[in-house]
Amino acid sequence: PSAMRELLVEIPNVRWSDIGGLDNLKLKLRQAVEWPLKYSDSFRRLGVPPPGGVLLYGPPGCSKTMIAKALATESGLNFLSIKGPELFSKWVGDSEKAVRDLFRKARQVAPSVIFFDEVDAIGGERGDGEAGVHERVLAQLLTELDGVVPLNSVTILAATNRPDRMDRALLRPGRLDRIIYVPLPDLETRSQILELKLATMSVSSAVDSHDLANRTEGFSGAELHAVCHEAALKALEENIDSVEVKVEHFEHALKEFTPRTPHNLLKIY
Ligand code: ATP
Repeated sequence: PSAMRELLVEIPNVRWSDIGGLDNLKLKLRQAVEWPLKYSDSFRRLGVPPPGGVLLYGPPGCSKTMIAKALATESGLNFLSIKGPELFSKWVGDSEKAVRDLFRKARQVAPSVIFFDEVDAIGGERGDGEAGVHERVLAQLLTELDGVVPLNSVTILAATNRPDRMDRALLRPGRLDRIIYVPLPDLETRSQILELKLATMSVSSAVDSHDLANRTEGFSGAELHAVCHEAALKALEENIDSVEVKVEHFEHALKEFTPRTPHNLLKIY
């Protein structure tokens, strides 16, 4: 039986337009992932080898997973995802087979994307006495990355908050060789994230997304969403029949909420 029977092949439903801001980043990624698929003949003609995978790195809650899903949705690719630590917990004793099965499945349903979240958990220096299994899983993964035939129909995406903990072997040419930073949202991006979110809520017309964006420097996208939820809860707490979330509820939420990305994490990027 397959060790990966729990593995789901998804057809995600995240569009580029669901992701606020980050216009340059979206363009760069489309070139990196969509072009080699769409123009594979041209690449071959010019003798350009099929590109390796893309590593997205940056603070938590800043849309790395959404981006991976949007790349799959917008190119019509099947999406397989796995979190690094799951390889060691869910498939104990069978982690190498899990890696093999994952790639086999991805080839079966190609064109497809494999998304490795928390990829830093694979390989690297380990202090937990589990060096044996980590080394074997890393070796299996490297074999698959080097050998996937043909690589241009299985796109490899990976994400990490801790690029400093990545095993260097994963970053060599042909493997995860395109490395893209997904930062905390800047003012413009925060404004767009909030606008998208507020559009799905019932909010007073006095609530101003630009003002909120100005006052949320350092917040991740996920934290901006959390502020909006907090404001909505406050409105309901005051009156369960509330019909809209008001400025005062956002004021309350902003007071409750401070951004949590550790400063020393930002320093390593
Ligand atoms: P982690 O490192 O914790 O896995 P991540 O970078 O993969 O985080 P996502 O899971 O993609 O982040 O984003 C978390 C949530 O934050 C999303 O589901 C979405 O609700 C919101 N979000 C973050 N960034 C954006 C954005 N640019 N536009 C719209 N929503 C966003």
